[in-house]
Amino acid sequence: MSTDLQAVAAPLARLFGDDFTAGHIGLHFTCYEADTVGDFLRATGHPEAAATWLQGHASASGEAAEAHDLDTLLVGEELEADA
Ligand SMILES: [Zn+2]
Repeated sequence: MSTDLQAVAAPLARLFGDDFTAGHIGLHFTCYEADTVGDFLRATGHPEAAATWLQGHASASGEAAEAHDLDTLLVGEELEADA
């Protein structure tokens, strides 16, 4: 992945990866839309922001963590951090 792409996506990662924003606006996203944002954040090198975003969306929507495969997402984040 290009470092430039990661840098360009950083402002969006800060926006969607913010706890308050994730819960506040995540409630208004469908699961498909939320996953699309999460996939973008992961693909551009922001897995922590993706996890926060999807956690906020799922919590605000009253969904179980499994709805967005958050356990796998968080495990993947740990593995990447160890690398
Ligand atoms: Zn959802």
